Amino acid sequence: MTSELSVAPSDAAARRAVEPVIVYPNGTLAPPDLGLYRSARAGACKTGEVLVQPREGGCFHVPAGGFFRISSVEGPQVGDLNLWNAHNLDERFYSGKTRAIHGTHITTGERMWSNLPYLRPMATIIEDSLGWYGMDEFGGSIHDVIGTRCDPYTHHLLAGDDYHHCCHSNLSRALADETGRPLKEVEMQVHDVLNVFMCTGFTRDTGQYFMKASPVRPGDHIEFFAEIDLLGALSACPGGDCSSSHSSDAAACYPLLVEIFAPADGALDGWQSPPPSGYDRSHGR
Ligand SMILES: [Zn+2]
Repeated sequence: MTSELSVAPSDAAARRAVEPVIVYPNGTLAPPDLGLYRSARAGACKTGEVLVQPREGGCFHVPAGGFFRISSVEGPQVGDLNLWNAHNLDERFYSGKTRAIHGTHITTGERMWSNLPYLRPMATIIEDSLGWYGMDEFGGSIHDVIGTRCDPYTHHLLAGDDYHHCCHSNLSRALADETGRPLKEVEMQVHDVLNVFMCTGFTRDTGQYFMKASPVRPGDHIEFFAEIDLLGALSACPGGDCSSSHSSDAAACYPLLVEIFAPADGALDGWQSPPPSGYDRSHGR
């Protein structure tokens, strides 16, 4: 991370010693009403499920006020999650802003935010069975918003051949099947993901993105409250538990289960789906 061509100034140590400032401090945002969400979840009924096959993708719908749970089944597996506004695919999950607001990895009580100009919570995590993991000695943690998604373009760049079951392709095929639109058109709607169950971080010395074997085991799950009407897509990453490689058929891969739940009538009385950002979009003109 240092350049051989760069000469340190005499006050380099003093400049480095400046204390960091949290950009978006905890408490800036009103916290979600987890008590309300959980009581609604307690009386909710399961309305559907999708079993996403290894090295494939699958789509699912969750109406605003509903819940979805992603579970590990059969073996350790990570998933790449995309979310869209079910009525407007231009509104989609904004990994970068979610990272700026909450941090590199998200867990219970934190939210998946949508892109500009919408910028509203799309989903709120209400339960995370891997919340115990915290941050390990390497700086690794679970459910990151720092990775992008494995894709055939980067693979082609680095390896020179074509692999068709990267998460980007799995999500693209799933979205094409769900919408009935051409693959090359919907591919443009696929976006940077929430890496569900993946264990990742940045190395302390070189700042490089790393992954390590996910601690997820069958039965582990993460559960979300849908703040708006959602179309979701999940890919069961070809990297499996992402302990060694991705973008190939080498790793052991397992399915991921997505279950949808609807609250009982009246369980969310007083709750309203959040509106898009109130900014007037005049940008000073
Ligand atoms: Zn992947």
